[in-house]
Amino acid sequence: MQPGFLDHLRDTLGEIEAQGLLKRERQIVSPQSGRITVRGPGGEREMVNLCANNYLGLANHPEIAAAARQALDTRGFGMASVRFICGAQDLHRALEGAIAAYLGKDDAILFAACFDANGGIFEALLGPEDAVISDALNHASIIDGVRLSKARRYRYANPDMDALEAQLRQANADGARFKLIVTDGVFSMDGHVAKLPDICALADRYGATVMVDDCHATGHLGDKGRGTPALTGAGDRVDIVTGTLGKTLGGSMGGFVAAAQPIIDLLRQRARPYLFSNSLAPAVAAGSLKAIELAERADAERAKLQRHTQRFRQGLSDAGFDLLPGQTPIIPVMTHEAVPAQRLAAELDQRGVYVAGFFYPVVPQGRARIRTQMSAALDDADIDFAIAAFADAGKAASVI
Ligand SMILES: *Cc1c(COP(=O)(O)O)cnc(C)c1O
Repeated sequence: MQPGFLDHLRDTLGEIEAQGLLKRERQIVSPQSGRITVRGPGGEREMVNLCANNYLGLANHPEIAAAARQALDTRGFGMASVRFICGAQDLHRALEGAIAAYLGKDDAILFAACFDANGGIFEALLGPEDAVISDALNHASIIDGVRLSKARRYRYANPDMDALEAQLRQANADGARFKLIVTDGVFSMDGHVAKLPDICALADRYGATVMVDDCHATGHLGDKGRGTPALTGAGDRVDIVTGTLGKTLGGSMGGFVAAAQPIIDLLRQRARPYLFSNSLAPAVAAGSLKAIELAERADAERAKLQRHTQRFRQGLSDAGFDLLPGQTPIIPVMTHEAVPAQRLAAELDQRGVYVAGFFYPVVPQGRARIRTQMSAALDDADIDFAIAAFADAGKAASVI
């Protein structure tokens, strides 16, 4: 090792800690659910969980676990190959078919994660003559994927449609061959929904393709959980949907792109995270397939999720917290600075509520928060418990 390198890294870690920005991981020793068992310095205890992306409560669903177990028994543990060499089973194609049918697209392609789907798509589909027009609040994986492509980059402020139009005009003035507008369906830090009908109308006017990353929507928002295109009425005008199997749809791992056939076919030839990374484990593919089947008919869970969202929002608002507005199960409780976010998280921890503080660099400086998320795995008593704990902890942390 070069002398001084580790000391330099220790100094950087020290600076992160001194700024109150150090992230620490806790250990859960139960399945992911509405109530979880957490291991801490004082031993193990049960907590109400408000920070999983387990919107429909499928992460520990017995039917999904059974489907995964059956695949483990009949198809083995791992594939030990990328797809195009010898990593494709019937299960992988069945899952791609199910995703495409669910989202109303010709076909779908699986990746190890949505981070990889977003990381690979732009470079594979666009050249230097083309333009990507990206919302400034888009997920880190979109930002990185756009960086990896040779397309020209344009950025618009969220949720400013005039700014989007100005960038489309600029891309035309620059002579762009093809234009791709890309947006998160739900902005994961703030919890609001993209203005997809307006975006699609601008795409029609300026001749652009529309891509939506619907990781925080597929399975729980819109009719039958078909995501923000269904929720907003933009529907099929959204050309490309990327999503994850690691949130609502069972919560294990894996990502996908669903779109028209030539898009999927070219991604199979060119997307580097697909070509050079291992296939999903059979149990993950089989469990996710079952998750899609369950999500499609989970109207009762979607109604429960919405009821929790409204009650929790109202309860925190009545207690005097500063919430970002929105209609999704993501409810950000603003503290603005990082230190009070950590203090509030610590007070909630003592009261048996499991949350995470978000601060720079995950959100901009001065925009620190506790991001709470509702789940159908929570029951009404959990919501009451969490509201009371927030009211108490908020006073203890001098946030309200
Ligand atoms: C979670 C998330 C991702 C990453 O998905 P993984 O499958 O966990 O890699 C990408 N985009 C958005 C908007 C997300 O919320």
